Amino acid sequence: MTTTPSDSALSTQHSALDKKRLAILGSTGSIGTQTLDVVGQFPDRFEVVGLAASHVSPLLQEQTEKFHPKVVATDPKALVELACRDDVDLVVVATAGKAGFEPTLAALEHGTPVALANKETLIMAGDLVMRQARAANTPVYPIDSEHSAIWQCLQGEDRSRVARLILTASGGPFRELPAEELASVTKERALKHPNWVMGPKITIDSATLMNKGLEILEAHHLFDLPFSQVDAIIHPQSIVHSMVEFLDGSIKSQLGVPDMRVPIAYAIAYPERLPINSPRLDIAAKDLTFQAIDDRRFPCIRLAKEAGTRGGTFPTVLAAADEEAVRLFLEDRIGFMDIPRLVEATLDQHESFPNPTLGDILEADVWARRRLVELARQSAARPGLGSELVRSAAQHSALSTQH
Ligand code: MG
Repeated sequence: MTTTPSDSALSTQHSALDKKRLAILGSTGSIGTQTLDVVGQFPDRFEVVGLAASHVSPLLQEQTEKFHPKVVATDPKALVELACRDDVDLVVVATAGKAGFEPTLAALEHGTPVALANKETLIMAGDLVMRQARAANTPVYPIDSEHSAIWQCLQGEDRSRVARLILTASGGPFRELPAEELASVTKERALKHPNWVMGPKITIDSATLMNKGLEILEAHHLFDLPFSQVDAIIHPQSIVHSMVEFLDGSIKSQLGVPDMRVPIAYAIAYPERLPINSPRLDIAAKDLTFQAIDDRRFPCIRLAKEAGTRGGTFPTVLAAADEEAVRLFLEDRIGFMDIPRLVEATLDQHESFPNPTLGDILEADVWARRRLVELARQSAARPGLGSELVRSAAQHSALSTQH
């Protein structure tokens, strides 16, 4: 039996048959473990049919013993098979990088709703994924806190009455740091996020604000709005998770303590709200502040909007180049400001495919990774090259603002 949203909205008592059957891809990661935490709080509401991780580990073993899944997958082909099983009601895609890409498309093609925590899937193949979702009339539920906030603000609202989406960004650990100090920050400092505990890739992306840039691309696809209607603002307390401004000037927002289990629970139980065990917000004890994003210190928002507006395979190149740049930074091979610099240089050298196919996207992904590593090697061998890249980037943005 399949539980539909209207069924579960009507019933308050749940028999074993009413359990929502989940496949959790990326179960040992940050989102995966928190998803299992929520699932573990409501054993009468969820059944874990499958777990998938990139490799066998003691944690995966522990999860298997606790949740007794029918399937444990650790290779990409098995991930796709798990995503299209007939006995799965919802696929939670919480893998990192492009590993979430094919299972997401496969689940949607099969008509199985997807709760998506993997950013790259929508960024690289947002057009393909959302086209597939619409064709199969199958929903994609966001897990990310910002998109969950927007999704919650849009409940009962007519999409055509939206003026703009406003994503909030904590600003990361370097929100107040002067531009000249940003170049020399260490990975240890970059990994200390003030409000959220997350995996290393997304923590570095939060420090460069590339995370927010990627989320703007995601929001564009999820809510079908042009880039001119998707903005970001710094909100250091991470209490307002995002906002929607409507045509009459009203702004709705969703607030709460920074706890990923809240948007996870909303996505896996939608349209219900679960009484999850999570700290409550003491609203009287909080000062909420907002400030505009300094494009000079945090160029990643601009890079993401430009890549999104240019479309084709540019967003793929942005995401793939960023993933490589973050890896090099975590290996102490490049500096913090080399991340946006090298990503921009890679974008500048890219020739996009219009209306890319899956093959074009994967090809652009491989190209971007190679190109970024080559550019990093060149700039390490010739220290002067970094400033050349900055100059060419400055010329490029001067040109691109003309039209
Ligand atoms: Mg987020």
